[in-house]
Amino acid sequence: MSGLPALTLSPTATDFIDDGYLEGLISVPAPDPAQVREVIAKSLAKEALTVAETAVLLRADAPELVEEIFAAARELKRRVYGNRIVLFAPLYIGNACVNECRYCGFRQSNDESVRRTLTEVEIAAQVTALEAKGHKRLILVFGEHPDYSAEFMARCVSTVYNTRHGHGEIRRVNLNAAPLDHEGYRTVKAAGIGTYQIFQESYHHETYARMHPPRTRKGNFLYRLDGLSRAMEAGCDDVGIGALVGLYDWRFETLGLVSHARFLQQHYGVGPHTISFPRLRPASGAQFDATRFVSDDQFKRLVAVLRLAVPYTGLILTARERPELRREVMAFGVSQIDAGSRIEIGGYTEAGDAQCMEREQFELGDVRSLDTVMRQLMEDGYVPSFCTACYRLGRTGEHFMEFAIPGFIKRFCTPNALTTLAEYLTDYASPETRAAGERLIGEELDRLEQPELRAELTARLAEIRGSDTRDVYF
Ligand code: SAM
Ligand code: SF4
Repeated sequence: MSGLPALTLSPTATDFIDDGYLEGLISVPAPDPAQVREVIAKSLAKEALTVAETAVLLRADAPELVEEIFAAARELKRRVYGNRIVLFAPLYIGNACVNECRYCGFRQSNDESVRRTLTEVEIAAQVTALEAKGHKRLILVFGEHPDYSAEFMARCVSTVYNTRHGHGEIRRVNLNAAPLDHEGYRTVKAAGIGTYQIFQESYHHETYARMHPPRTRKGNFLYRLDGLSRAMEAGCDDVGIGALVGLYDWRFETLGLVSHARFLQQHYGVGPHTISFPRLRPASGAQFDATRFVSDDQFKRLVAVLRLAVPYTGLILTARERPELRREVMAFGVSQIDAGSRIEIGGYTEAGDAQCMEREQFELGDVRSLDTVMRQLMEDGYVPSFCTACYRLGRTGEHFMEFAIPGFIKRFCTPNALTTLAEYLTDYASPETRAAGERLIGEELDRLEQPELRAELTARLAEIRGSDTRDVYF
């Protein structure tokens, strides 16, 4: 570790991942059906599962039990989140990186990678292009480099919020970047960030060490594991965890994610806001062990089991996956997806249709436009949402948990999804998407149970369609 800066951990910093214990939970024989059904019932009662209970679901291999798990995940998603799907886009700010993650096209020793960091003017141009498509929520992505300090990231966040184009504006900026110290989190929090995301990549120590050489910054397992605890302590109570699926056994990583969620809940009174499960994709010069390949069927089980294990945590499914699979997996409890994504630096204004491996971190599986994704979602019965109300009204962290109840969703989330959808349809949609959207809004209004709410919402929707009024939320 020589040559690396001294690292400060949080007071609670403990390595709560016991590899032997987690391996033990997944290596015993398949559970009997009654036990699996008992765990499913607990989950349907909206209780979070323990790590051991999650393992019971992961070990249920019999096809009929897998089907029951899928059905329960669909049911729980419907009950907790309804049919809304929140949309966002990633914005890659810079790919300079001092790490050597074996799977990533940005790693320092990859000479094929074209290095670039967007200037303020270039960021504004990317944001303008994203706003012109209708985006309202972005996640800024950074390599790990001394140039990408917390102050630098905070300036990028401000640039994004300050870039307006017609009715376009970005209302929520999340970050996916290297772990910071307490001071760093306070700096980005002050810039108004939403979620701070850090993926542990692998919760399995030996795999982690193989993928992230110990001499590198990212090589310190505990510093990274503790990263979001420091965020919580510094007042960023809205955090996202994740595992890079395919580095090690998918069932082990699922247990790692659930352990992490429970640790944050126990120590800070609030679990992660979101969990991500990016699956490994081909990347320029990547070196990883293909024997840990995770099939589509296993991936689907991972998502369904996570839905059941942490009923109130948002699940994010990215454009790494192909459109057909995204469509299928979404039903098992995903709450957020990205759409119209470009991950080459400058890709929203400069890229043609072909993907360019030298400029990207990895290859995408879904490069459809936002408009196309929106239309398909609506044809499948989802309500696409750009809502940012909770975060802007301070309904995050502990407070968010209080609100994540069915009555709240009906009273606030559905109306806010519909007003943000109406904004999209009025300002950005193609004629076909607009027609599909207006049909959907009509159906959703008919479904609203409280007549007063329906009347108020109908009036707001009319105002959006007929005037410049935007950003009205409940
Ligand atoms: N550099 C920061 C870090 O490593 O935490 C943040 C950004 S990194 C660009 C975002 C995430 O991309 C990583 O955490 C990793 O999970 C994912 N990633 C890296 N290489 C990948 C690949 N080949 N396929 C899929 N996802 C990948
Ligand atoms: Fe750098 Fe992040 Fe890629 Fe690792 S995953 S090489 S830290 S950009």
